[in-house]
Amino acid sequence: MANLDEPLSKVLGDKTANALKKGLDLHTVGDLLHHYPRRYAHRGELTQLSGLQDGEHVTVMAEVVKVQGRSLTRSPGYVLEITVTDGTGLLKLSFFGRKGSYRAEKDLSPGTRGLFAGKISTYRPRGGKAMRQLTHPQYKVVAEKGAEEAAQEWADEIIPIYPSTKALPIETIGTSVGTVLDQLTLPADPMPGALLGRRRLVGLREAYEGIHRPRTWDELGKARARLKWDEAFVVQVALAQRRLAAAALPATPRPPSFGGLQSEFDARLPFELTEGQRQVGDEIAADLAREHPMHRLLQGDVGAGKTVVALRAMLQVVDNCGQAALLAPTEVLAQQHYRSITGMLGDLAEAGRIGGAENATRVALLTGSQGAKARKEALLDAASGTAGIVVGTHALLQESVQFADLGLVVVDEQHRFGVEQRDALREKTGGGRPHVLVMTATPIPRTVAMTVFGDLETSVLGQLPAGRSAIRTHVVPPEKPAFLARTWERIKEEAAEGRQIYIVCPRIGEQEGDEGDAMDTADAEESGRRSPLGIMEVLPKLADLLAGVRIGVLHGKLHPDEKDAVMRRFTGRELDVLLATTVIEVGVDVPNATVMVIMDADRFGVSQLHQLRGRVGRGSLQGLCLLVTDAEPGSKARERLDAVASTTDGFKLSRLDLEQRREGDVLGAAQAGRTSSLRLLTLHRDEDVIRDAREEATALVESDPGLADHPGLATVLASLLDADRAEFLEKT
Ligand code: ADP
Ligand code: MG
Repeated sequence: MANLDEPLSKVLGDKTANALKKGLDLHTVGDLLHHYPRRYAHRGELTQLSGLQDGEHVTVMAEVVKVQGRSLTRSPGYVLEITVTDGTGLLKLSFFGRKGSYRAEKDLSPGTRGLFAGKISTYRPRGGKAMRQLTHPQYKVVAEKGAEEAAQEWADEIIPIYPSTKALPIETIGTSVGTVLDQLTLPADPMPGALLGRRRLVGLREAYEGIHRPRTWDELGKARARLKWDEAFVVQVALAQRRLAAAALPATPRPPSFGGLQSEFDARLPFELTEGQRQVGDEIAADLAREHPMHRLLQGDVGAGKTVVALRAMLQVVDNCGQAALLAPTEVLAQQHYRSITGMLGDLAEAGRIGGAENATRVALLTGSQGAKARKEALLDAASGTAGIVVGTHALLQESVQFADLGLVVVDEQHRFGVEQRDALREKTGGGRPHVLVMTATPIPRTVAMTVFGDLETSVLGQLPAGRSAIRTHVVPPEKPAFLARTWERIKEEAAEGRQIYIVCPRIGEQEGDEGDAMDTADAEESGRRSPLGIMEVLPKLADLLAGVRIGVLHGKLHPDEKDAVMRRFTGRELDVLLATTVIEVGVDVPNATVMVIMDADRFGVSQLHQLRGRVGRGSLQGLCLLVTDAEPGSKARERLDAVASTTDGFKLSRLDLEQRREGDVLGAAQAGRTSSLRLLTLHRDEDVIRDAREEATALVESDPGLADHPGLATVLASLLDADRAEFLEKT
């Protein structure tokens, strides 16, 4: 009898166990049982021997006509060659190894019928006739039976095809799994029986049987559903526990007050808040008034007006004698936030200065690059409480930064910060925890929100402020060179009218080994392509093409002061064109910018393109985005660009992005290919499973926070929540 954590050597013997360990990193009975078939073959897919093609993965049914072993002439070794036929043609099966090392030798004697699966290649003996062959095929002997009965059985038979490696004969996996299943002792099902009933899920044993040796497709479907459920549920239980623990922490309530800075600010707003801004504002205001820390994710498409929402929340805290910190992912963005917040607040941010309003506060800026004097002043203002709002980059996380009474942390553009960083800021308050508002402009598909961000409550700013004209997007393809010429013309025209233009390249491109700022997520696997365009290669050409147009350059390797200077000149309209890398991807807000040209657009991911184009059309002026590409019509890259051009719905695009990325990319690099990563569950297809699991997990954890009444579940959680998975919850 074998438990899930039994070493495989105990059940299968050292030889097989070693092969499974070396080849597939499988150590225990549980490891092997979670090595699921990659796909399943069946009679319906059987290929005739006369129609075989090289490189095809096939399953054939045939009869053995000849068995011959021979020593290899060059290398020491032995090959077992078996010829089979189905009446339409011949096929050779080759098993390399030591003499007698293959069960095939015993299993497959002339006259035996079997199913053979593998990848077709061509064998060309010297001087002989070329022949199709399968090397180390998976096979299954089919017993002689009454023809009808046998045919039925063949038709129904489902043959699991396992992920395997060269060194590991594929049939070894199948037989090993069979042996393990026959000896398996499972503890009581960790899932509560009532839950299984409610969700129509089969028991665990049935699930393992059904995924490894299904008799029907229905069995297989039920098995997959159950095992998927387990994957989703464990994560959701862990998240529910985290949420519950976070909700139990104390925080200082900061309720809305009348006649404070917040209402003063509202009264002065030059525009009406959108319905969404008001609603989300109310949610946040209520959260801030509670005795437990807010932990909220605010999603809003680019230009949705998240900053105002955050600023109003910050002012509510300041009205309660607390401080708020705004954490930005880049210097450019921190500086811009600082400028726009002080701008919006006007004399409300001039406490202690001539002309400052009566109940005014101060805004401090803290970045890694600022001079010693400015930094010292900012640190003092933060520590003394003079600054009600402190804006900064990662520099805010350093230990030397102290706050008098930090009540709210706003993290802008979440996807660049990890949970630890949020926590680092939280540690900066004495007793209570600060409230936390996380903002992201990358619309997050529901499934990702429920898993990766599953410990946060979410709010969505669904609509853009009125008076925005939509951004038009066009692809500038290689087959229409006139479009590119027109692009340069258009830039000159816009500049002549006093409008501003961004031109984005994937790379800086000035030195060797420069990886630029762009994440070349998209087609990295396509080798042999020219390297992506760099700013420094494009710049001299632009100087020609756009003679008379004032061009500035912005990228991540510039000194922060230079970056700031360039941004200032651009904002101040001393520059017409900003040639940049993706440093301008997030948050940059210049309402006078109308055109965004993205060079080598196919090198960017869908969400990234959407973010980038969000930089234009922010004022009342119509925005135009041009996606310049070399990608051929009909290619995957072009489909992606066409999708971006066809819609401005960020949520639609983020779902598309999710479909095109591998799960590991979404869940963080640590997840990809690890044994504990999600095997069956996918974030783009299993929204319903994830949602149901979340619902059940939340209810279960609320009634039994420590899982005291669910010891089986607690054990599974502990073992599955190993280092990897904990990392998944932390890092992503
Ligand atoms: P994002 O959500 O991308 O961070 P911002 O907060 O930068 O968007 O807002 C984009 C622009 O829209 C800013 O210039 C801001 O002043 C303006 N804005 C915000 N809310 C409104 C509104 N309700 N009506 C009109 N303009 C608004
Ligand atoms: Mg923003």
